[in-house]
Amino acid sequence: IMQLSNMYQEVILDHYKTPRGKGLQSPFGGEAHHVNPTCGDEITVRVLLSDDGKTIKKISYDSTGCSISQASASIMFEQVDGKSIEDFDKASNEFLAMMQSKGIFEPNEDILGDGISMIGVAQYPARIKCALLSWMAAKDAIIRANGEK
Ligand code: ZN
Repeated sequence: IMQLSNMYQEVILDHYKTPRGKGLQSPFGGEAHHVNPTCGDEITVRVLLSDDGKTIKKISYDSTGCSISQASASIMFEQVDGKSIEDFDKASNEFLAMMQSKGIFEPNEDILGDGISMIGVAQYPARIKCALLSWMAAKDAIIRANGEK
């Protein structure tokens, strides 16, 4: 089992037990379904963009899987719902960089919010995909929402 700092473990468990924003919503402009076969995690993400395509008016998701993937989806929702695409890109790039850092990283809490609690996961290569799944699905959903314009 993973050795994460107690404080970060608390944050992850809280998001796992009380997921923010879970449940698919309509209307939406783009949807993406991603699976992580090595762990069995699955997520569907929907996004509704503003008319100019620059803001995420609404993001929603439904997911099943391990505690890391579930907590990550909840944190992702909290960080990007209602935010600009620019902010989404900043957060998803920062999160990806953190996950690829093997844990040697100074995560920016202003950009990642509770996402900084996932830093310890970066030391467990088998779990990185669990943490990244929701962010990758959200990115795809945004691309699809933009493609429909
Ligand atoms: Zn997983």
